[in-house]
Amino acid sequence: MMKKRWLVVLLALTLLLACTNPQTAEGAFTPAPTDTPAPTETPEPEEIVVIETPDNETVVYETPTLPPPPTPSPTPGPTPVPPPLAGLVIGIDAGHQSHGDLEKEPNAPDSDEMKARCSSGTRGIATGIYEYEVNLAVALKLQSILEEAGATVVMTRTENDVNISNRERAELFNEYGVDLAIRLHCNGTNDTSVRGAFMLVPTKEHTSFYNENVRAATAILDSYCKATGLSARKHNGITYRSDQTGFNWCTQPIVCIEMGHLSNETEDLLLTKDTFQDKMAVGIYRGILAYFDPDSTAEGGNP
Ligand SMILES: [Zn+2]
Repeated sequence: MMKKRWLVVLLALTLLLACTNPQTAEGAFTPAPTDTPAPTETPEPEEIVVIETPDNETVVYETPTLPPPPTPSPTPGPTPVPPPLAGLVIGIDAGHQSHGDLEKEPNAPDSDEMKARCSSGTRGIATGIYEYEVNLAVALKLQSILEEAGATVVMTRTENDVNISNRERAELFNEYGVDLAIRLHCNGTNDTSVRGAFMLVPTKEHTSFYNENVRAATAILDSYCKATGLSARKHNGITYRSDQTGFNWCTQPIVCIEMGHLSNETEDLLLTKDTFQDKMAVGIYRGILAYFDPDSTAEGGNP
């Protein structure tokens, strides 16, 4: 009897355990699969970030607004190239004038020596054309080319019938503060076989721009001879003069070109020809260009 009652109790306990601890039962508890959808992520606005801290505080950061994406800039067009002599002031003195003025003027600011204000120069041995005419013809062509190249040009004269002394010509260049002055002349000698072009520059005592003058003279004579086919006369084509009133009164860089010899028949026929004068002007222009821009090619520039 006691044994039977114990079995009943044991059975009851077994049932009770089976009901209260299902995971220990055979066939093991497996949770039913759920169809719970995965949480969808709602994107935050780009500029705002929300962060939950461990203390369950919500912190909202505003991120910096991104700059707009770069838009391709339009391809730059060719920038206009300034004319090669823009901003420069260049003086041109067409040597002499139709009527010489034998009145005297001081040869230099600190000199008692007096010289004629202006002579009428030489003339062509074959053509009879006066030097002052050739000088002015080339000067006007050179003026045109230089202005086209952007330079401001100071002309001592644009006509033959004027009366301007050599000192006054130099002082005109000083007044305008020219960056470079060039005096245009043709030479004449008793020896009619002598020919060729050469340069005059002031001696060291008569200029503050000795090196500049020599450099300009070298560049101009080189280009001039290339453009005209004339040869350079004298040693290196440069002579140094202390007796030129037109130099001695000038406080700016200045050179003088003897463009050839009107006393030589061949050169007279060339120097007085309009188309040859075009070449003379272009040659001088290219030399001026080379002086101001040594990197330019010897043949550089227009025309
Ligand atoms: Zn002369």
